[in-house]
Amino acid sequence: MDKISGTKCPSCRKNSNSEFAPFCSAGCKDRDLLRWLGEGYRIAGERVDPMAMDQFSDDE
Ligand SMILES: [Zn+2]
Repeated sequence: MDKISGTKCPSCRKNSNSEFAPFCSAGCKDRDLLRWLGEGYRIAGERVDPMAMDQFSDDE
């Protein structure tokens, strides 16, 4: 049963579980999703910057 897959969990590098593939558990799957959402948040935050500068431009 140990030889089933050569896939490893991208989150913690343990052997993945076919039930949660490519992750080893529901916890690692959630953690990866949260990280992905966190990066999306950061990009959205950077988008606000040009708009703030636009206000300065309007003042001139
Ligand atoms: Zn894992």
